[in-house]
Amino acid sequence: MRAPAPQYFIHGFIMCNEYEGELAHSCQHGDGPHSIKVCITKTDNDPATFNKIKAQAGDKPVYKKVRKRQKGMT
Ligand SMILES: [Zn+2]
Repeated sequence: MRAPAPQYFIHGFIMCNEYEGELAHSCQHGDGPHSIKVCITKTDNDPATFNKIKAQAGDKPVYKKVRKRQKGMT
């Protein structure tokens, strides 16, 4: 089996009393509201919302090969 290609997910911190929709969070860990980390996936959001979030998050990180500095080239 081949390993799947690496995927990038946008994560964000939201206040647990400000989200729309359902999350596995019930404020049982203390007084709210809490800042909770959520993973924003394309499938869970409508395209307009996701594109808005994506625009704020920016492009996916690009791996660049770092060229090693050559030594002894004085
Ligand atoms: Zn909470």
